[in-house]
Amino acid sequence: MPLIEIAGLTRAYPVGDEVLVVLKGLDLSIEEGEFVAIMGPSGSGKSTLMQILGLLDRPTSGAYRLQGRDVSRLTDDEGAVLRSRTIGFIFQMFNLLPRTSALHNAALPMIYAGGTDRDARARQMLELVGLGDRLGHAPNQLSGGQQQRVAIARALVNRPKILFADEPTGNLASDQAEDILRELQRLNASGITVIMVTHEPDIAAHARRVIRLKDGRIVADERNAPQPPAAARGAAAASGGAGGDLRPPPLGWAEMREYAASALRAMSANKVRSALSMLGILIGVAAVIAMLAIGRGAQRAVEARLSGLGSNLVILIPGSTGYGGVHGGSGSFSRFTLDDVKALAKVPHVLRAEGNVSGSAQIVYKDQNWNTQIIGATALYAPMHSDAPYFGRFITDDDDRRLDRVAVVGRTVLKNLFTDPALNPVGQTIKINHADYRIIGVLPVKGSTGFRDNDDEIIVPLRTGMKRLFGKVYLDYIWIEADAPGAIDGVMDAVEVLMRRRHHLPDFKDDDFSQRNMSDIQAALTGTTKTFTLLLGFVAAIALLVGGIGIMNIMLVSVSERTREIGLRKAVGAARRAILSQFLIESAALAAVGGTAGIALGIAVSLAVSHLAGWAAVVDPGSVLLAFVFSAGTGVVFGLWPARKASLLSPIEALRYE
Ligand code: ADP
Ligand code: MG
Repeated sequence: MPLIEIAGLTRAYPVGDEVLVVLKGLDLSIEEGEFVAIMGPSGSGKSTLMQILGLLDRPTSGAYRLQGRDVSRLTDDEGAVLRSRTIGFIFQMFNLLPRTSALHNAALPMIYAGGTDRDARARQMLELVGLGDRLGHAPNQLSGGQQQRVAIARALVNRPKILFADEPTGNLASDQAEDILRELQRLNASGITVIMVTHEPDIAAHARRVIRLKDGRIVADERNAPQPPAAARGAAAASGGAGGDLRPPPLGWAEMREYAASALRAMSANKVRSALSMLGILIGVAAVIAMLAIGRGAQRAVEARLSGLGSNLVILIPGSTGYGGVHGGSGSFSRFTLDDVKALAKVPHVLRAEGNVSGSAQIVYKDQNWNTQIIGATALYAPMHSDAPYFGRFITDDDDRRLDRVAVVGRTVLKNLFTDPALNPVGQTIKINHADYRIIGVLPVKGSTGFRDNDDEIIVPLRTGMKRLFGKVYLDYIWIEADAPGAIDGVMDAVEVLMRRRHHLPDFKDDDFSQRNMSDIQAALTGTTKTFTLLLGFVAAIALLVGGIGIMNIMLVSVSERTREIGLRKAVGAARRAILSQFLIESAALAAVGGTAGIALGIAVSLAVSHLAGWAAVVDPGSVLLAFVFSAGTGVVFGLWPARKASLLSPIEALRYE
């Protein structure tokens, strides 16, 4: 059985409206172990024939049997698998991967064949062609002859039965050409069938058989030397076959590593371009991470503050809620008095009630001054709001009765007034609106609620606040505490009835006050958080879309720039799936690097914001992971089209691409 057998083989190219017939019905049979030179004038169809024989191209008509198997109608992937098992190809233009070591170049076909021990085998082949001392050299660090020898090592690495060489010495000086020819002869002597295209008659003289092509036909077929010894032929025949299953091997770790490395090489070869194309994803991810962290920090603080307030509290404020706002009533304000507080405290299930006034004032201590919120409160305020001072004491009923000028201050106020941290603030005298007040205690730290700092406040006795500080006759609001969470609704109903009666409101009038309990506030807060999260999701989606388009754009550029590389990878046995995976991994890596940088930037921004503005930012590991997965996913989604485009390239057209 001949190794190669073709009958009536034609190949025609459509050129414009015409059809150019390049091969016009060839019959040829080549035995195992032969060394065949194909000669002929330029344009006679030599390369076209080699490409068909080498399964890089398909005949237009006619039969091609390789080791007895009809291969004229193989699919792309079947061709790739058969190529990687039986065929080695050497091109005139070497076609090595740039910026990649000789060792890696030589090992490339084994990645697609799923071979193990790739480096050892590639090293062995490079030593065989005399490049044992150039393993780490990139193509631009090798002479032309050395590059061609790397290409030969690459062609041999999968133990092919047939070696095709299309003008392998066409780009070499004559002494280097001699070298390469001797190499091919040696390989032929070891049992590999060699089919070589050449222009040089003296090179052809090395071959045992010379086939001459002219204008798409075989015009001569001469034998210069007898067939090789049977031993060599037997050895070659023993290895592999064209039979069996031609499915590409599944994607393995070695292959993934190769693609990741190739992605990194591509990125570092075009650093600025890659960085710019990641920018969209980077900024988007950073913005989302930072906003999430700050938003979550704010929410935590509010929740902590609310739980600190106790869930049984109801606040009674003047003005109806009729128009959405608190003061939306038609100008009629309710006026809360201390008698109201006394009456409210007697409502069933009310544990205690306490009225407050509040306003802002200027505080001075020596040469420091600060503007803050002042709350006028009674002794009940501390237990109702978990606000008992850590040190010093809270306001007492006596302070209140005597209209004493005493103050319990928050941490932020202290920080801004007392520059000396060693100074005990309790006992010091500060000025509030030009009057002296003695500090009697320091409030516990409460943190911030979103944009509001809860430690930026001072508490003074209620009556001191009303009469001395603000000149107020009425209370600003009243806190009511129910004795159990379940009693809140009943208490609120009873409070409404009581207050309407005390304010002599006729039936046709709306309440001139309104009440809020903590679960109302909690619900409002949750609503805000939901809106915020939705908005963030929207921002993230737009950022990823913009980032993804940037990546798709750069991947399309990359595919067309590397068309020859894709052609080469396919020529040495890469199936469609392999090329698809390579470019998908590359775009995912690009997006993931951008996403990671974005995460780092986002965390840095939220830390900086929480440091500078004093808000607690909470970076949630879940959202970081999510951001990473989503940005890599964006790379996959937006890389799909460019990668598919690459995988569908025909190997021979890609190799010819300019
Ligand atoms: P050579 O014998 O010099 O290697 P080729 O086999 O490369 O010749 O080409 C043979 C003929 O086929 C040439 O005339 C060339 O113009 C034509 N040809 C090769 N490839 C194509 C193509 N893709 N489309 C159209 N014509 C082609
Ligand atoms: Mg040619």
